[in-house]
Amino acid sequence: MDKQRVAIVGSGTAGSASALFLSRLGHEVTLFEKVECPTATGAGVMLQPSGMQVLQELGLEEEILNSGAIVERLHATTTKDKVVLDLRYKELDQKYYGVGLHRGVLFQSLYDSVQHQNITTETGVEICEIVQSDRGDCSLISSERCEFNGFDLVVIASGARTNLREAVGIPHTVKEYPWGALWFVAKSGTEDSSNVLRQYLDSTHTMLGFLPTGKEHHNQQKLTSLFWSIRADQVDHFRANGLSQWKAKVLDLAPHARQLLDQIQSIDQLLFAPYYDVVLRRPFQGNVIFLGDAAHATSPQLGQGCNLALVDAMTFADAMSQSNTIRAAFKLYAKKRRGQIRYYQWATRFLTPFFQSNSRILGWLRDLTMGISCRIPLISKLMISTMCGFQEGLLKSSRNR
Ligand SMILES: Cc1cc2nc3c(=O)[nH]c(=O)nc-3n(C[C@H](O)[C@H](O)[C@H](O)COP(=O)(O)OP(=O)(O)OC[C@H]3O[C@@H](n4cnc5c(N)ncnc54)[C@H](O)[C@@H]3O)c2cc1C
Repeated sequence: MDKQRVAIVGSGTAGSASALFLSRLGHEVTLFEKVECPTATGAGVMLQPSGMQVLQELGLEEEILNSGAIVERLHATTTKDKVVLDLRYKELDQKYYGVGLHRGVLFQSLYDSVQHQNITTETGVEICEIVQSDRGDCSLISSERCEFNGFDLVVIASGARTNLREAVGIPHTVKEYPWGALWFVAKSGTEDSSNVLRQYLDSTHTMLGFLPTGKEHHNQQKLTSLFWSIRADQVDHFRANGLSQWKAKVLDLAPHARQLLDQIQSIDQLLFAPYYDVVLRRPFQGNVIFLGDAAHATSPQLGQGCNLALVDAMTFADAMSQSNTIRAAFKLYAKKRRGQIRYYQWATRFLTPFFQSNSRILGWLRDLTMGISCRIPLISKLMISTMCGFQEGLLKSSRNR
Protein backbone atom coordinates (compact mmCIF):
# COMPACT_ATOMS: atom_id res chain seq x y z
CA MET A 1 0.00 0.00 0.00
CA ASP A 2 1.15 3.56 -0.71
CA LYS A 3 1.99 5.84 2.16
CA GLN A 4 -1.22 6.75 4.01
CA ARG A 5 -1.95 9.72 6.29
CA VAL A 6 -3.13 8.06 9.49
CA ALA A 7 -4.80 9.77 12.46
CA ILE A 8 -4.81 7.80 15.72
CA VAL A 9 -7.08 8.90 18.57
CA GLY A 10 -5.75 7.92 22.02
CA SER A 11 -2.18 7.27 23.13
CA GLY A 12 -2.95 4.31 25.43
CA THR A 13 -1.77 0.77 24.72
CA ALA A 14 -3.58 0.28 21.40
CA GLY A 15 -2.97 3.80 20.10
CA SER A 16 0.75 4.12 20.81
CA ALA A 17 1.50 0.54 19.68
CA SER A 18 -0.41 1.15 16.41
CA ALA A 19 1.45 4.43 15.89
CA LEU A 20 4.79 2.63 16.24
CA PHE A 21 3.91 -0.24 13.89
CA LEU A 22 2.28 1.97 11.23
CA SER A 23 5.09 4.52 11.27
CA ARG A 24 7.58 1.69 10.78
CA LEU A 25 5.67 0.74 7.62
CA GLY A 26 6.30 4.27 6.32
CA HIS A 27 2.84 5.74 6.93
CA GLU A 28 2.51 9.36 8.06
CA VAL A 29 1.09 9.09 11.57
CA THR A 30 -0.48 11.76 13.81
CA LEU A 31 -1.39 10.68 17.35
CA PHE A 32 -4.08 12.67 19.22
CA GLU A 33 -4.31 12.47 23.01
CA LYS A 34 -6.78 14.37 25.14
CA VAL A 35 -4.48 14.56 28.17
CA GLU A 36 -2.18 17.59 27.95
CA CYS A 37 0.90 15.96 29.54
CA PRO A 38 0.35 12.20 29.40
CA THR A 39 2.01 10.62 32.43
CA ALA A 40 2.34 7.17 33.90
CA THR A 41 -0.80 6.56 35.97
CA GLY A 42 -2.87 3.50 36.78
CA ALA A 43 -2.75 0.29 38.75
CA GLY A 44 -1.21 -3.10 38.09
CA VAL A 45 -1.86 -5.02 34.89
CA MET A 46 -0.78 -8.44 33.73
CA LEU A 47 1.07 -8.82 30.50
CA GLN A 48 0.60 -12.27 29.07
CA PRO A 49 2.86 -14.16 26.66
CA SER A 50 0.65 -12.96 23.76
CA GLY A 51 1.26 -9.31 24.68
CA MET A 52 4.95 -9.87 25.44
CA GLN A 53 5.41 -11.24 21.89
CA VAL A 54 4.14 -7.92 20.53
CA LEU A 55 6.41 -5.92 22.86
CA GLN A 56 9.32 -8.05 21.65
CA GLU A 57 8.46 -7.07 18.06
CA LEU A 58 8.54 -3.43 19.18
CA GLY A 59 11.93 -3.91 20.87
CA LEU A 60 10.46 -3.10 24.31
CA GLU A 61 10.52 -6.53 25.92
CA GLU A 62 13.72 -6.00 27.88
CA GLU A 63 12.68 -2.59 29.18
CA ILE A 64 9.36 -4.01 30.37
CA LEU A 65 11.02 -7.00 32.00
CA ASN A 66 13.38 -4.68 33.88
CA SER A 67 10.44 -2.81 35.44
CA GLY A 68 7.96 -5.68 35.75
CA ALA A 69 7.64 -8.70 38.01
CA ILE A 70 7.65 -12.19 36.58
CA VAL A 71 4.43 -14.01 37.51
CA GLU A 72 4.66 -17.79 37.32
CA ARG A 73 1.39 -18.83 38.85
CA LEU A 74 -2.21 -17.83 39.50
CA HIS A 75 -3.42 -19.17 42.83
CA ALA A 76 -6.88 -18.62 44.31
CA THR A 77 -8.25 -20.06 47.53
CA THR A 78 -11.47 -19.80 49.51
CA THR A 79 -11.85 -18.82 53.17
CA LYS A 80 -11.89 -22.56 53.91
CA ASP A 81 -8.49 -22.93 52.21
CA LYS A 82 -9.99 -24.76 49.27
CA VAL A 83 -7.96 -24.26 46.10
CA VAL A 84 -10.14 -22.80 43.34
CA LEU A 85 -7.46 -21.93 40.81
CA ASP A 86 -3.89 -23.13 40.59
CA LEU A 87 -2.46 -22.46 37.16
CA ARG A 88 1.25 -22.41 36.35
CA TYR A 89 2.41 -21.00 33.03
CA LYS A 90 5.28 -23.44 32.78
CA GLU A 91 2.87 -26.38 32.62
CA LEU A 92 2.12 -25.25 29.07
CA ASP A 93 5.78 -24.59 28.32
CA GLN A 94 8.83 -23.67 30.41
CA LYS A 95 9.28 -20.49 28.35
CA TYR A 96 5.95 -18.89 29.35
CA TYR A 97 5.31 -16.47 32.19
CA GLY A 98 3.19 -13.41 32.91
CA VAL A 99 4.56 -10.01 33.81
CA GLY A 100 2.94 -7.95 36.55
CA LEU A 101 3.45 -4.30 35.73
CA HIS A 102 2.33 -0.86 36.71
CA ARG A 103 -0.01 0.16 33.85
CA GLY A 104 1.85 3.47 33.74
CA VAL A 105 5.14 1.74 32.93
CA LEU A 106 3.65 0.16 29.82
CA PHE A 107 2.13 3.48 28.86
CA GLN A 108 5.46 5.33 29.37
CA SER A 109 7.55 2.80 27.42
CA LEU A 110 5.24 2.96 24.42
CA TYR A 111 4.82 6.73 24.62
CA ASP A 112 8.60 7.34 24.93
CA SER A 113 9.17 5.18 21.83
CA VAL A 114 6.56 7.24 19.97
CA GLN A 115 8.56 10.40 20.81
CA HIS A 116 11.66 8.85 19.23
CA GLN A 117 9.97 8.06 15.93
CA ASN A 118 8.73 10.18 13.13
CA ILE A 119 5.23 10.46 14.64
CA THR A 120 3.44 13.77 15.17
CA THR A 121 1.79 13.98 18.60
CA GLU A 122 -1.04 16.39 19.41
CA THR A 123 -1.62 16.32 23.15
CA GLY A 124 -4.35 18.17 25.04
CA VAL A 125 -6.65 17.58 22.04
CA GLU A 126 -9.90 15.76 22.71
CA ILE A 127 -11.40 14.53 19.45
CA CYS A 128 -15.16 14.58 19.52
CA GLU A 129 -16.19 14.36 15.84
CA ILE A 130 -14.94 12.59 12.76
CA VAL A 131 -16.16 13.69 9.32
CA GLN A 132 -15.66 11.43 6.31
CA SER A 133 -15.98 12.96 2.85
CA ASP A 134 -17.45 11.06 -0.12
CA ARG A 135 -13.89 10.67 -1.45
CA GLY A 136 -12.88 8.96 1.81
CA ASP A 137 -10.86 11.85 3.30
CA CYS A 138 -11.28 12.13 7.06
CA SER A 139 -11.27 15.25 9.25
CA LEU A 140 -11.10 15.26 13.03
CA ILE A 141 -12.76 17.94 15.12
CA SER A 142 -11.70 18.63 18.69
CA SER A 143 -13.82 19.72 21.66
CA GLU A 144 -12.38 23.22 21.11
CA ARG A 145 -13.63 23.15 17.52
CA CYS A 146 -10.14 22.87 15.96
CA GLU A 147 -10.22 20.92 12.72
CA PHE A 148 -7.49 18.50 11.58
CA ASN A 149 -7.90 17.63 7.91
CA GLY A 150 -6.57 15.39 5.21
CA PHE A 151 -6.35 11.90 6.73
CA ASP A 152 -6.80 8.77 4.66
CA LEU A 153 -7.82 6.71 7.66
CA VAL A 154 -8.53 7.06 11.36
CA VAL A 155 -7.69 4.56 14.11
CA ILE A 156 -9.85 5.02 17.19
CA ALA A 157 -8.04 3.73 20.27
CA SER A 158 -9.65 5.95 22.88
CA GLY A 159 -10.59 3.26 25.39
CA ALA A 160 -13.75 1.65 26.79
CA ARG A 161 -15.52 4.89 27.70
CA THR A 162 -15.03 6.67 24.38
CA ASN A 163 -18.03 8.43 22.87
CA LEU A 164 -16.54 8.25 19.38
CA ARG A 165 -18.53 5.05 18.69
CA GLU A 166 -21.70 7.18 18.71
CA ALA A 167 -19.93 10.01 16.84
CA VAL A 168 -18.96 7.65 14.01
CA GLY A 169 -22.31 5.86 14.12
CA ILE A 170 -20.87 2.36 14.33
CA PRO A 171 -23.36 -0.27 15.59
CA HIS A 172 -22.33 -1.27 19.11
CA THR A 173 -23.44 -2.22 22.61
CA VAL A 174 -21.79 -1.10 25.86
CA LYS A 175 -22.72 -2.59 29.22
CA GLU A 176 -21.27 -1.59 32.55
CA TYR A 177 -20.74 -4.58 34.84
CA PRO A 178 -22.53 -4.25 38.20
CA TRP A 179 -19.22 -5.04 39.89
CA GLY A 180 -15.82 -3.36 39.58
CA ALA A 181 -12.77 -3.18 41.83
CA LEU A 182 -10.96 -0.89 44.22
CA TRP A 183 -7.23 -0.66 43.61
CA PHE A 184 -4.16 0.34 45.53
CA VAL A 185 -0.50 0.07 44.48
CA ALA A 186 1.65 -0.50 47.57
CA LYS A 187 5.31 -0.88 48.38
CA SER A 188 5.79 -4.61 48.85
CA GLY A 189 6.50 -5.64 52.41
CA THR A 190 6.00 -8.72 54.46
CA GLU A 191 3.22 -10.12 52.29
CA ASP A 192 4.00 -13.03 50.01
CA SER A 193 6.72 -11.84 47.65
CA SER A 194 6.79 -14.98 45.52
CA ASN A 195 5.94 -14.76 41.83
CA VAL A 196 2.28 -15.51 42.29
CA LEU A 197 -0.91 -13.62 41.47
CA ARG A 198 -2.84 -14.52 44.60
CA GLN A 199 -6.59 -14.28 45.10
CA TYR A 200 -8.68 -14.88 48.21
CA LEU A 201 -12.35 -15.67 47.62
CA ASP A 202 -15.46 -15.89 49.73
CA SER A 203 -18.38 -17.03 47.60
CA THR A 204 -18.88 -14.51 44.77
CA HIS A 205 -19.22 -11.44 46.98
CA THR A 206 -15.62 -11.19 48.16
CA MET A 207 -12.47 -11.24 46.06
CA LEU A 208 -9.17 -9.90 47.32
CA GLY A 209 -6.12 -10.04 45.08
CA PHE A 210 -2.42 -9.28 45.25
CA LEU A 211 -0.53 -8.83 42.01
CA PRO A 212 3.28 -8.42 41.98
CA THR A 213 3.62 -5.14 40.05
CA GLY A 214 7.35 -4.76 39.40
CA LYS A 215 9.54 -1.95 40.70
CA GLU A 216 9.39 1.77 41.21
CA HIS A 217 11.40 3.53 38.54
CA HIS A 218 13.65 5.67 40.69
CA ASN A 219 14.51 3.41 43.65
CA GLN A 220 13.74 -0.16 42.52
CA GLN A 221 11.27 -0.55 45.42
CA LYS A 222 9.12 -3.60 44.73
CA LEU A 223 5.41 -2.94 44.30
CA THR A 224 2.26 -4.99 44.85
CA SER A 225 -1.21 -4.09 43.59
CA LEU A 226 -4.10 -4.88 45.89
CA PHE A 227 -7.54 -5.21 44.35
CA TRP A 228 -10.86 -5.60 46.14
CA SER A 229 -14.01 -6.54 44.31
CA ILE A 230 -17.00 -4.30 44.99
CA ARG A 231 -20.42 -3.55 43.53
CA ALA A 232 -20.37 -0.19 41.74
CA ASP A 233 -23.49 0.92 43.64
CA GLN A 234 -21.83 0.14 47.00
CA VAL A 235 -18.75 2.34 46.54
CA ASP A 236 -20.23 5.43 48.24
CA HIS A 237 -21.45 3.36 51.16
CA PHE A 238 -18.00 1.71 51.40
CA ARG A 239 -16.30 5.11 51.46
CA ALA A 240 -18.70 6.43 54.10
CA ASN A 241 -17.93 3.43 56.34
CA GLY A 242 -14.23 4.28 56.58
CA LEU A 243 -11.22 1.98 56.53
CA SER A 244 -11.14 0.06 59.78
CA GLN A 245 -13.94 -2.45 59.08
CA TRP A 246 -12.58 -3.15 55.62
CA LYS A 247 -8.99 -3.55 56.86
CA ALA A 248 -10.19 -6.08 59.44
CA LYS A 249 -11.89 -8.08 56.66
CA VAL A 250 -8.74 -8.01 54.51
CA LEU A 251 -6.57 -9.15 57.42
CA ASP A 252 -8.98 -11.94 58.12
CA LEU A 253 -8.51 -13.21 54.57
CA ALA A 254 -4.80 -12.42 54.26
CA PRO A 255 -3.07 -11.87 57.64
CA HIS A 256 0.27 -11.22 55.89
CA ALA A 257 -1.09 -7.99 54.35
CA ARG A 258 -0.75 -5.84 57.49
CA GLN A 259 2.30 -3.87 56.33
CA LEU A 260 0.66 -3.24 52.98
CA LEU A 261 -2.57 -2.07 54.63
CA ASP A 262 -0.62 0.32 56.88
CA GLN A 263 0.17 2.30 53.72
CA ILE A 264 -3.53 3.03 53.21
CA GLN A 265 -4.32 5.90 55.54
CA SER A 266 -7.24 7.44 53.68
CA ILE A 267 -10.20 5.84 51.94
CA ASP A 268 -9.45 8.05 48.91
CA GLN A 269 -6.24 6.09 48.28
CA LEU A 270 -8.45 3.24 47.07
CA LEU A 271 -9.41 4.01 43.49
CA PHE A 272 -12.51 2.52 41.93
CA ALA A 273 -12.29 1.01 38.44
CA PRO A 274 -15.59 0.18 36.71
CA TYR A 275 -15.65 -2.63 34.15
CA TYR A 276 -17.28 -2.52 30.72
CA ASP A 277 -18.32 -5.02 28.11
CA VAL A 278 -18.11 -3.49 24.63
CA VAL A 279 -19.20 -5.25 21.46
CA LEU A 280 -18.98 -3.86 17.91
CA ARG A 281 -20.77 -5.72 15.15
CA ARG A 282 -17.69 -5.08 13.00
CA PRO A 283 -14.65 -3.00 13.96
CA PHE A 284 -14.75 -0.48 11.09
CA GLN A 285 -17.01 2.02 9.41
CA GLY A 286 -15.91 3.77 6.22
CA ASN A 287 -12.26 4.70 6.71
CA VAL A 288 -12.41 4.55 10.50
CA ILE A 289 -11.29 1.50 12.49
CA PHE A 290 -11.65 0.80 16.23
CA LEU A 291 -8.90 -0.99 18.18
CA GLY A 292 -8.35 -1.99 21.83
CA ASP A 293 -10.94 -1.33 24.53
CA ALA A 294 -12.85 1.07 22.26
CA ALA A 295 -13.70 -2.00 20.16
CA HIS A 296 -13.93 -4.83 22.70
CA ALA A 297 -13.46 -3.89 26.37
CA THR A 298 -14.00 -6.84 28.72
CA SER A 299 -13.96 -7.29 32.47
CA PRO A 300 -10.31 -7.80 33.57
CA GLN A 301 -11.12 -11.23 35.06
CA LEU A 302 -8.80 -12.92 32.57
CA GLY A 303 -6.21 -10.11 32.54
CA GLN A 304 -6.29 -9.71 28.76
CA GLY A 305 -7.14 -6.06 27.97
CA CYS A 306 -3.64 -4.70 27.31
CA ASN A 307 -2.67 -7.90 25.56
CA LEU A 308 -5.64 -7.83 23.19
CA ALA A 309 -4.89 -4.16 22.49
CA LEU A 310 -1.25 -4.98 21.65
CA VAL A 311 -2.20 -7.88 19.39
CA ASP A 312 -4.79 -5.63 17.67
CA ALA A 313 -2.07 -3.08 16.88
CA MET A 314 0.34 -5.63 15.42
CA THR A 315 -2.35 -7.48 13.46
CA PHE A 316 -3.68 -4.24 12.00
CA ALA A 317 -0.20 -3.21 10.83
CA ASP A 318 0.26 -6.69 9.30
CA ALA A 319 -3.08 -6.33 7.49
CA MET A 320 -2.01 -2.92 6.17
CA SER A 321 1.26 -4.36 4.89
CA GLN A 322 -0.53 -7.22 3.12
CA SER A 323 -3.31 -5.19 1.45
CA ASN A 324 -3.56 -2.81 -1.48
CA THR A 325 -6.43 -0.72 -0.17
CA ILE A 326 -7.60 0.53 3.22
CA ARG A 327 -10.89 -1.35 2.82
CA ALA A 328 -9.05 -4.61 2.13
CA ALA A 329 -6.79 -4.04 5.16
CA PHE A 330 -9.81 -3.40 7.42
CA LYS A 331 -11.51 -6.58 6.19
CA LEU A 332 -8.37 -8.67 6.59
CA TYR A 333 -7.82 -7.30 10.10
CA ALA A 334 -11.42 -8.06 11.11
CA LYS A 335 -11.11 -11.60 9.77
CA LYS A 336 -7.83 -12.27 11.57
CA ARG A 337 -9.04 -10.89 14.94
CA ARG A 338 -12.60 -12.23 14.97
CA GLY A 339 -11.91 -15.62 16.59
CA GLN A 340 -9.71 -14.43 19.43
CA ILE A 341 -11.80 -11.39 20.34
CA ARG A 342 -15.04 -13.37 20.33
CA TYR A 343 -13.48 -16.10 22.47
CA TYR A 344 -12.19 -13.71 25.15
CA GLN A 345 -15.42 -11.72 25.18
CA TRP A 346 -17.37 -14.91 25.68
CA ALA A 347 -14.95 -16.35 28.27
CA THR A 348 -14.84 -13.20 30.44
CA ARG A 349 -18.61 -12.74 30.23
CA PHE A 350 -19.08 -16.38 31.22
CA LEU A 351 -16.50 -16.45 34.03
CA THR A 352 -16.94 -13.03 35.67
CA PRO A 353 -20.19 -13.90 37.55
CA PHE A 354 -18.42 -16.91 39.11
CA PHE A 355 -16.09 -14.42 40.82
CA GLN A 356 -18.13 -11.21 41.06
CA SER A 357 -21.89 -11.45 41.48
CA ASN A 358 -24.64 -12.01 44.05
CA SER A 359 -25.08 -15.66 43.15
CA ARG A 360 -24.21 -18.07 45.96
CA ILE A 361 -24.91 -20.99 43.61
CA LEU A 362 -22.26 -19.86 41.12
CA GLY A 363 -19.78 -19.47 43.99
CA TRP A 364 -20.59 -22.95 45.22
CA LEU A 365 -20.29 -24.44 41.71
CA ARG A 366 -16.97 -22.65 41.21
CA ASP A 367 -15.55 -23.96 44.48
CA LEU A 368 -16.77 -27.45 43.66
CA THR A 369 -15.44 -27.71 40.10
CA MET A 370 -12.63 -25.31 39.28
CA GLY A 371 -9.95 -26.65 41.65
CA ILE A 372 -10.55 -30.16 40.29
CA SER A 373 -10.47 -28.86 36.69
CA CYS A 374 -7.00 -27.41 37.32
CA ARG A 375 -5.82 -30.95 38.07
CA ILE A 376 -7.17 -32.48 34.84
CA PRO A 377 -4.31 -32.03 32.35
CA LEU A 378 -6.42 -31.33 29.25
CA ILE A 379 -8.64 -28.75 30.96
CA SER A 380 -5.79 -27.19 32.88
CA LYS A 381 -3.84 -26.71 29.61
CA LEU A 382 -6.85 -25.00 28.05
CA MET A 383 -7.13 -22.74 31.10
CA ILE A 384 -3.42 -21.84 31.01
CA SER A 385 -3.47 -21.25 27.27
CA THR A 386 -6.50 -18.98 27.79
CA MET A 387 -4.60 -17.12 30.50
CA CYS A 388 -1.61 -16.78 28.13
CA GLY A 389 -3.85 -15.04 25.58
CA PHE A 390 -3.40 -17.74 22.92
CA GLN A 391 -6.94 -19.08 22.44
CA GLU A 392 -8.99 -18.20 19.37
CA GLY A 393 -11.81 -20.57 20.31
CA LEU A 394 -12.24 -23.51 22.67
CA LEU A 395 -10.34 -25.76 20.28
CA LYS A 396 -8.16 -23.25 18.44
CA SER A 397 -4.93 -21.70 19.65
CA SER A 398 -2.47 -19.29 18.05
CA ARG A 399 0.37 -20.64 20.22
CA ASN A 400 2.43 -22.40 17.61
CA ARG A 401 1.80 -19.97 14.79
C1 LIG B 1 -9.14 -2.41 37.11
C2 LIG B 1 -8.59 -2.84 35.79
C3 LIG B 1 -7.65 -3.86 35.78
C4 LIG B 1 -7.10 -4.26 34.57
N1 LIG B 1 -6.19 -5.30 34.56
C5 LIG B 1 -5.67 -5.69 33.38
C6 LIG B 1 -4.70 -6.75 33.31
O1 LIG B 1 -4.30 -7.34 34.32
N2 LIG B 1 -4.19 -7.06 32.09
C7 LIG B 1 -4.56 -6.40 30.97
O2 LIG B 1 -4.04 -6.71 29.90
N3 LIG B 1 -5.48 -5.42 31.00
C8 LIG B 1 -6.04 -5.05 32.17
N4 LIG B 1 -6.97 -4.05 32.19
C9 LIG B 1 -7.42 -3.47 30.95
C10 LIG B 1 -6.45 -2.50 30.34
O3 LIG B 1 -6.10 -1.46 31.21
C11 LIG B 1 -7.09 -1.98 29.06
O4 LIG B 1 -7.65 -3.06 28.37
C12 LIG B 1 -6.06 -1.33 28.15
O5 LIG B 1 -5.50 -0.22 28.81
C13 LIG B 1 -6.75 -0.88 26.86
O6 LIG B 1 -5.92 -0.07 26.14
P1 LIG B 1 -6.54 0.97 25.12
O7 LIG B 1 -5.35 1.58 24.43
O8 LIG B 1 -7.58 0.34 24.30
O9 LIG B 1 -7.28 2.08 26.00
P2 LIG B 1 -6.73 3.03 27.13
O10 LIG B 1 -5.50 2.47 27.75
O11 LIG B 1 -7.90 3.34 27.98
O12 LIG B 1 -6.25 4.35 26.36
C14 LIG B 1 -7.16 5.26 25.78
C15 LIG B 1 -6.44 6.59 25.58
O13 LIG B 1 -7.25 7.44 24.78
C16 LIG B 1 -7.28 8.75 25.33
N5 LIG B 1 -8.55 9.34 24.89
C17 LIG B 1 -9.81 8.99 25.26
N6 LIG B 1 -10.73 9.70 24.58
C18 LIG B 1 -10.05 10.54 23.77
C19 LIG B 1 -10.46 11.51 22.81
N7 LIG B 1 -11.75 11.74 22.58
N8 LIG B 1 -9.52 12.20 22.14
C20 LIG B 1 -8.18 11.95 22.38
N9 LIG B 1 -7.75 11.04 23.27
C21 LIG B 1 -8.66 10.32 23.94
C22 LIG B 1 -7.20 8.49 26.82
O14 LIG B 1 -6.75 9.64 27.53
C23 LIG B 1 -6.19 7.35 26.87
O15 LIG B 1 -4.85 7.80 26.89
C24 LIG B 1 -7.52 -3.64 33.37
C25 LIG B 1 -8.46 -2.60 33.40
C26 LIG B 1 -9.02 -2.21 34.61
C27 LIG B 1 -10.04 -1.12 34.62
